[in-house]
Amino acid sequence: MNSEYNKVGSEPFLGQEVGSGNTPPPRGRGWGRGLFPGSFDPFTLGHADIVKRALGLFDEVVVAVGYNEQKKGWLSVEERVATIKKLYADEPRVTVESYTGLTVDFAKEHGITAIIRGVRTTADFEYEMQMADVNRQLSGIETIILPASPQFASLSSSVCRELAHFHHDISEFLP
Ligand code: ADP
Repeated sequence: MNSEYNKVGSEPFLGQEVGSGNTPPPRGRGWGRGLFPGSFDPFTLGHADIVKRALGLFDEVVVAVGYNEQKKGWLSVEERVATIKKLYADEPRVTVESYTGLTVDFAKEHGITAIIRGVRTTADFEYEMQMADVNRQLSGIETIILPASPQFASLSSSVCRELAHFHHDISEFLP
């Protein structure tokens, strides 16, 4: 990524270019480099739907598997990254990384325009509002919240883990 436009701290993209009358967004309708952070333990059809829709807005999407060294996940971070990488092997606009620490620090280091999150419920929404506000205050980076598609609105990684724990086949929920 190159331009001024992707630098953290450059003029806010949304209010400026999209909102100002008929001015087309820079680079066609490209929104630069979006960051989709999450635990992705496991990465579900709901997550894949958010990535697909984000690709319609951003030039690139970085899927970042966040982990906490203190907290052991269900799948290892390496497994999660490898699975998601394989999924997007033919999509050069998607890259997959892992990170620990603050999402905004990762975002700043990677020239991210905006953070992407999905919401399924009002509970998700309240949490995401809070996180978006904190992240914006810390870094100036905005969060784009995409509403879950109805067919995936009840799908969560935790439900998948629960079902898998009881030896239920979860492949129908995974991309
Ligand atoms: P986190 O632990 O950061 O919430 P998750 O992997 O559970 O990580 O979720 C990552 C993001 O994907 C969150 O914004 C979450 O709301 C969103 N998400 C999870 N499941 C779905 C779904 N079925 N549809 C849309 N968004 C989803």
